[in-house]
Amino acid sequence: MSTFDYDLFVIGAGSGGVRAARMSAQYGARVAVAEEYRVGGTCVIRGCVPKKLFVYASQFAEAFEDAAGYGWQVPKPSFDWSALIETKDREIDRLNGIYIRNLKAAGVEIIPTRAELRDPNTIYLTGEDRVVTAATVLIATGAAPFLPTDVPGIEHAITSNEAFHLDVLPEHIAIVGGGYIAVEFAGIFNGLGVQTTLIYRGEEILRGFDDDLRRLLHEEMVKKGIDVRVMSDVASIGKSGDRLDIELKNGDMLHADSIMYATGRVPNVKGLGLSEAGVEMGWNGYVVVDEYNRSSVENIYAVGDVTHRVNLTPVAIREGAAFAETVFNDNPVIVDYSDIPTAVFSQPEIGTVGLTEALARERYPDLQVFREHFRPMKHTLTGRDEKILLKLLVSGDSGKVVGCHFMGPDAGELVQLAGVAMKAGVSKADFDRTIAVHPSAAEELVLMRTPQ
Ligand code: NDP
Repeated sequence: MSTFDYDLFVIGAGSGGVRAARMSAQYGARVAVAEEYRVGGTCVIRGCVPKKLFVYASQFAEAFEDAAGYGWQVPKPSFDWSALIETKDREIDRLNGIYIRNLKAAGVEIIPTRAELRDPNTIYLTGEDRVVTAATVLIATGAAPFLPTDVPGIEHAITSNEAFHLDVLPEHIAIVGGGYIAVEFAGIFNGLGVQTTLIYRGEEILRGFDDDLRRLLHEEMVKKGIDVRVMSDVASIGKSGDRLDIELKNGDMLHADSIMYATGRVPNVKGLGLSEAGVEMGWNGYVVVDEYNRSSVENIYAVGDVTHRVNLTPVAIREGAAFAETVFNDNPVIVDYSDIPTAVFSQPEIGTVGLTEALARERYPDLQVFREHFRPMKHTLTGRDEKILLKLLVSGDSGKVVGCHFMGPDAGELVQLAGVAMKAGVSKADFDRTIAVHPSAAEELVLMRTPQ
């Protein structure tokens, strides 16, 4: 019997920490998890889940308009922000309850306080002013929004954390950034009727994504009424009464009643006592780990965004599971980071897996690009000017599919299956011999015959 209070102490009850805690307990470890905010973590409490609910809410505006093309007479709809917040909060409370119940059912002790390391085996529980000890420690504290410090007036800015709890819906919002969160929230606010300006410092939004996706999403966002300003950055933010005066670096002035920064996230390590415990950290504080999620200190491990590898919930969950298998089930597991499918819940939605065209061209000089960009059947009657993109990248040499890029309704659903196919080593010939599902938009995937 170990002399420590616990076999495993997990700091952070988000996606990665909860998975690791539950599985380790199921393998017989005595486990505690400390959480300073709410069990469930960013994804469940103030990230992916409430964001997706907001996306659904914002899509009704177009659905009401489109209904007219199918003969429906819809009276002018109105929207109640506080009603949405209330139902969203109720759902988040429900999920939070399920997470707590599942941890308890697995025998995990939940300690609702902040935890900091005193040494590699000793953890100080700040809210309870006591220390506990553990043989193994898992850091799963995630990441927090990053705000630049060199913008005068930055204290007037909100982040996605606050966007989930605004008292009133702004009339005009400026969103800074061109990544996942910026484009998703631009679509949400615009759909809810907020005048929305997206301010991005680079040449095109969604850096790192396939260029067709970047360009075409930008075009569609503009068509929906979002003021997308690329090569644009904020110089200062002033406040007069309820109004924000936003000065851009090119001298332009914008007036909005809210400004939201979605300029990336940084590992949540401040004050955790990691460097004092001897844990090596990278440039922005991320915990350096090996392929088994072990840090430079033998008994300290880390999973999820705090390790700044691939910052996605399902990856954190995989890492948490791999940790539990490796450390508490004597079954060393290394997470496979290749061909991770991902969705951006922009409007229209994006689903993507594999290489971008630019990278694939470098790697496969004989690359074949199959691409369809078309108006979906639904909009023949609605008249809406919105197109779908389906794109397959194929190595001319092996015939293997090396990238799939989709934009359009449910692209995130589609790419989950494309991801499975790519993991199985799918070739273009496999697509060709599959019979189409008709009438659907996805059937174009098996009907594309001529590379561009
Ligand atoms: P991202 O890293 O995706 O994007 C950050 C954006 O902010 C980039 O456009 C970047 O520009 C810009 N930026 C960074 N620093 C500054 C600065 N000082 N001034 C102006 N602009 C700046 O981060 P997000 O905040 O959008 O999302 C955080 C993480 O959350 C992502 O890594 C993502 O993995 C995850 N996430 C995933 C979602 C999903 O799976 N659907 C949804 C939401 C979040 P540049 O391109 O020039 O660097």
